[in-house]
Amino acid sequence: MAVVRYLSTRGERDQERPGFGDILLAGLAGDGGLYLPERYPRVDASTLADWRRTLLQDGYAALAAKVIGLFVDDIPSEDLRALCHRAYNAQVFSSAEIVPVSELGNGIWLSHLSTGPTAAFKDLAMQLLGQLFEYQLARTGTVLNILGATSGDTGSAAEYAMQGRAGIRVFMLTPAGRMTPFQQAQMFSIDDPAIVNVAVDGVFDDCQDLVKAVAGDAAFKEQYRLGAVNSINWARLVAQVVYYVASWLRATTADDQQVSFTVPTGNFGNICAGHIAREMGVPIARLVLATNENNVLDEFFRTGVYRVRGAAETHATSSPSMDISKASNFERFIFDLLGRDADRVRHLFGELLPSQGYFDLSDTPEFAAISERFGFVSSSSTHADRVATIARTWREYGVLIDPHTADGVKVAGEFVQPGVPMIVTETALPVKFAETIVEAIGVEPERPARFDGIEDLPRHVVDLPNDAEALKSLIRSHVDA
Ligand SMILES: *Cc1c(COP(=O)(O)O)cnc(C)c1O
Repeated sequence: MAVVRYLSTRGERDQERPGFGDILLAGLAGDGGLYLPERYPRVDASTLADWRRTLLQDGYAALAAKVIGLFVDDIPSEDLRALCHRAYNAQVFSSAEIVPVSELGNGIWLSHLSTGPTAAFKDLAMQLLGQLFEYQLARTGTVLNILGATSGDTGSAAEYAMQGRAGIRVFMLTPAGRMTPFQQAQMFSIDDPAIVNVAVDGVFDDCQDLVKAVAGDAAFKEQYRLGAVNSINWARLVAQVVYYVASWLRATTADDQQVSFTVPTGNFGNICAGHIAREMGVPIARLVLATNENNVLDEFFRTGVYRVRGAAETHATSSPSMDISKASNFERFIFDLLGRDADRVRHLFGELLPSQGYFDLSDTPEFAAISERFGFVSSSSTHADRVATIARTWREYGVLIDPHTADGVKVAGEFVQPGVPMIVTETALPVKFAETIVEAIGVEPERPARFDGIEDLPRHVVDLPNDAEALKSLIRSHVDA
């Protein structure tokens, strides 16, 4: 097994570089940077051929164990295989293929990342995370209380992945009355004393501030073993690399055949895994980044200026899971773009961004080569684009897509190259965003049987004032009980 050690994008040099298990439960590195492996594993033609056989003969979980195994040297491979099989199977996902791939037409394909319990792509990473956390906590004899805030998809994916796991409790804050009825029903119907839904009298930013206030109390955090499952978690990215490999395999027949991906993006989490897959040598021509009206990342790839925005400048759109104005995983890509120069990354993200709110790479040779070297191009869409794309995809192909996927399909159409399948990652099912679907095609989206009647189930949620002390009391009352 190759040795895999991790470093921080801001250059922290631990005496002993941490391994996968050491950073699994960690958030940021000690210097405020993000963890990445010292180098990406490179795969050759024979590995790609082996992966093709593995996916076709043994399925997605077996492929996952092989791909993820390249990043992990401190979990025995038979254990990793078992964890992958427990995460990725037809009891958990509604398709035995886990990630089916289908052809729409005109060179555009869909990679279906929404077959999991909460019908959003975050299930693919979270389900593995649930297995890995439980395994690691058991090995180290510790417990974990996950504290998070959600406006929708992340929180429910986390709860479905963590429920019933030994040693894990979840406190998930939501803005009272501000999620869709479907999203509320998904989370609040979970009947498990270790899953604590909290409805805060406030908006999403208030929920996040409460989490920061409570997790920022170091003594409390230590005593109550608080942790997070946010999108900077390295294991989530590794889990996502697998579906880039699987989607490439399913859309091709030869191991040197290239594909491109279009990825609807907010936090740069999903597409960052595509970048890693490409760096490993998976034959990916282009990575097409698609944003909605919150086009911070599109602006960077077009102009070289990365300018984060405040809450007041963040639009509430019909693809709400991409309403993000500060892309928490972006630092990882910039680290690679700048030839892994940690001093420059520290200057950009640790100094310029906090002080002036933007940085500008437009005059650098690295930005000039961004598309050629890393395959990135980008564009964005509006509400009208999404509605038109949902209607057209329904009319022309008989396929109903959700508004986030519609951002992707709209942008994909601008970059299709002859002979190169353009795979759009489908990030959610339409049923989660019924209002926009009705606006586009005039009928309600079909509801998969597994979501029948969830609004009628008993609700498990506690109300909380917007107050950090009240949140601490709530945590104490559950943990000390
Ligand atoms: C989270 C999410 C996204 C954005 O993913 P990032 O990793 O933040 O880029 C897109 N679509 C849906 C449905 C999501 O839940």
